[in-house]
Amino acid sequence: MDKLRVKNKIVEIDGDEMTRIMWKMVKEKLLFPFLAMDVEYYDLQLSKRDETEDRITHEAAEAIKKYGVGVKCATITPDKERVKEYNLKQVWKSPNGTIRALLDGTVFRGPIMVKNVQPAVKSWKKPITIGRHAYGDVYKNAELAIPGPGLGEIVFTPSDGGETQRMIIQEFDGPGILQGIHNLDSSIRSFARASFTYAYDQNIDLWFAVKDTISKTYDERFKNIFREVYEQEWKDKFQEAGLTYFFTLIDDAVARVMKDEGGFLWACKNYDGDVMSDMVASAFGSLAMMTSVLVSPHGYFEYEAAHGTVQKHYYKHQAGEKTSTNPVALIFAWTGCLKKRGELDSTPEVIEFAGALEESTIETIESGIMTGDVARIADPRPEGPTSTEDFIDAVALKLQQKLKGDNSGTKGD
Ligand code: NAP
Ligand code: MG
Repeated sequence: MDKLRVKNKIVEIDGDEMTRIMWKMVKEKLLFPFLAMDVEYYDLQLSKRDETEDRITHEAAEAIKKYGVGVKCATITPDKERVKEYNLKQVWKSPNGTIRALLDGTVFRGPIMVKNVQPAVKSWKKPITIGRHAYGDVYKNAELAIPGPGLGEIVFTPSDGGETQRMIIQEFDGPGILQGIHNLDSSIRSFARASFTYAYDQNIDLWFAVKDTISKTYDERFKNIFREVYEQEWKDKFQEAGLTYFFTLIDDAVARVMKDEGGFLWACKNYDGDVMSDMVASAFGSLAMMTSVLVSPHGYFEYEAAHGTVQKHYYKHQAGEKTSTNPVALIFAWTGCLKKRGELDSTPEVIEFAGALEESTIETIESGIMTGDVARIADPRPEGPTSTEDFIDAVALKLQQKLKGDNSGTKGD
C-alpha cells in the first residue's frame, strides 16, 4: 500500500511510563505503516526534562506555536516520591501546566462513545464536552482562619495612588474562616474565545453558566465577557453554522444536562469544571475513553488523552506481565491532531484516514474486542479482556481492511 503523505509537520511530544509504551505501539502499528509523516519530536519523559532543566517543555510549547498542531503523550508530574524514584534535580512543574500557560490555552475533554457501553445517564446519546477555565477563583485564593471576634474586610489599593477601596465581608463575633479570590478580564476573555473557537471547530452548541443572580459583580463579569465575545466575534459565524450560544444559571444548567441528549460544549468556571468533568467522565464510562485538547485563543491545538501515565500498569509491564491498558484515548489524540493538520493543510485524504482509524477503533470494541477497563462496563460482556497489544493488532487489521475496501482518499503520492 502506498503511504499517504501528511503535508506539514506535527509536533510530537513523547511522555512517560505505560502511555510511553502504548504511544510507541500506536505509532508502529497504526500510523507509520500508512502515513509518510514528518514530526518535530520532543521527548518529555521525566529524565529528559531533568537533563534539560525543563527547557524541553518550553521548546515543545514554542514548536506548537510554530506549527499550529501538536499531540502529547501523558507525562509524570513529579512529587517528592518521583524526585527519589528518578533522582531529580528538583520537583519540576507539571508540563501540562507549563504548556497551557505558554499557549494561554483552555482544556476541553470529551468522551469517545461506543454502542456497547451505555452512559449512566439514560438520556445522553451524544458526547458532552467540558471546557474548564483553568485560572483563578478558589485555586489561587488567600485564606485565613479567624480565631475570634473581629472585622473581616476586602481591600484594594490601586498602584496609581488612587483611592483605596474597602468593604466589610463579615463582622465576626466568634471563630470562623475567611477567603479572598480573584480573576482577570484577560483570562476570562481568552477562556471565552477558546470556548467559542472549539465549539465552532466541532460544530456544536456552546453552553455557559454562572451564578450571577447571587454574585452580581464577580460572576456577572464572566457573563458579560462571554456575551461581548459572542456578540462582537462569533454571533454571525454561529448563526450561519446554525449553532447556539446558550447562557443560563449554573443550577439550571446542571438540571438540564441530566435530561439533555448531549452533543454540546459546556464551558465551566474553574471549580465547576473540576467537579463536572469528573462526573461526566465517570458517567460516560472509562477515563481511558476520554480525549483532551488544549485550545489556545490564537488558534493552536494540542491533543492528548485525558488520563495519566497509568503508573500501576507500567510496574506490571516492567515485571514482564502483559497488561490490558486501554490505548483508545491515545489513538484519538493522534486522530484529532491528524484531522486538524489535514484541515489546516487542505488535505481531505488525511482527515479521511483519521476518520477511518477512529471507526476501526470503535468497531473493534463494538465487535467485542476490548481492554479490561471497558470490558468491566460493557453490555454484552465480552468473553474476556484483551491485552493492549492484541487490541492494537485488531484495530490495525480492521484499518487495513477498511483502507483496502475503500480506495477513495487513501492513495499516496
Ligand atoms: P492515571 O494514569 O490516569 O491512572 C489512574 C487509574 O485509572 C489507573 O490506575 C487505571 O485504573 C485507570 N486508567 C487510567 N488510564 C487507563 C488506561 N489507558 N487504561 C486502563 N486503565 C486506565 O492516574 P494516576 O495513576 O493518578 O497518575 C499517574 C501519573 O500520571 C502521575 O505521575 C501523574 O502526574 C500523571 N498524570 C499525567 C497527566 C497528563 O500528562 N495529562 C494527567 C494525569 C496524571 P486501574 O489501576 O484500576 O486499572
Ligand atoms: Mg477534578
